[in-house]
Amino acid sequence: MDDLRLCGRFDRQKTVVPVGPLRFGESFIVIAGPCSVESERQLLTAAWMVKEAGAHALRGGAFKPRTSPYSFQGLGLAALKILDKARRETGLPIVTEVLDPRDVPWVSEFADMLQIGARNSQNFSLLKEAGKGYRPVLLKRGMYSTLKEWLSSAEYILSAGNPHLVLCERGIRTFEVYTRNTLDLSAVPAIRELSHLPVIVDPTHGTGRASLIEAMSLAATAAGADGLMIETHPHPEEALSDGDQALPPDRFRTLVRKARAIRECWERLE
Ligand code: PEP
Ligand code: MN
Repeated sequence: MDDLRLCGRFDRQKTVVPVGPLRFGESFIVIAGPCSVESERQLLTAAWMVKEAGAHALRGGAFKPRTSPYSFQGLGLAALKILDKARRETGLPIVTEVLDPRDVPWVSEFADMLQIGARNSQNFSLLKEAGKGYRPVLLKRGMYSTLKEWLSSAEYILSAGNPHLVLCERGIRTFEVYTRNTLDLSAVPAIRELSHLPVIVDPTHGTGRASLIEAMSLAATAAGADGLMIETHPHPEEALSDGDQALPPDRFRTLVRKARAIRECWERLE
């Protein structure tokens, strides 16, 4: 992997990525919130719910990369204003996806961390723009990306000058269709071998089924992930996107409690 000049391991210490008061790579971080920001009421309810359950950062999509052009595309600027309000009220840092390189500078005024999604993980103009360093970046693995291709995308961001980068495993396409994707948990120790960057896991998109998320979150935690990204919704059956994979408040609370216990155990054994 000679092209990984900056994200390769080289026996370097693990990188710590600061996002507001959080330090990815140092402590275990849970990012949670709805797939999409749908209304002020929905997002603020979700924000308080995830905060009370122990999440450290709030996610919510303002620009949604939907397979069909007729599906809900996100509220754009209105969603970003709602996220900003949620940050002011709850103190939770905001993670939100950016789809277009032209949006990177102004979306950065609302976000504490920019998400680059699976579908855009090889959008090289977007990677270069996010690499200018407006905000720390959460780079998801493309659904068809090998580890090397994913790390090469990371290399675009680092080589453009932004050292604040966290990787997110979110499942890859395989022949299996029972789950939406196949969550590749071996990516966690493999990335640890190959790179100094923190890596978190998104079992929500990795499975696409609410019933499987807790087990895979616990497995990801035991595998040494630096954190989790979980979609939650106050009323999953009413969600405008990804309702089948959103956890309601009580199940999210249980997940965080169990993941914390596993993390404490993992830290003791390390
Ligand atoms: C999301 O986080 O809502 C999302 C669209 O994720 P991915 O890019 O992993 O599909
Ligand atoms: Mn989603």
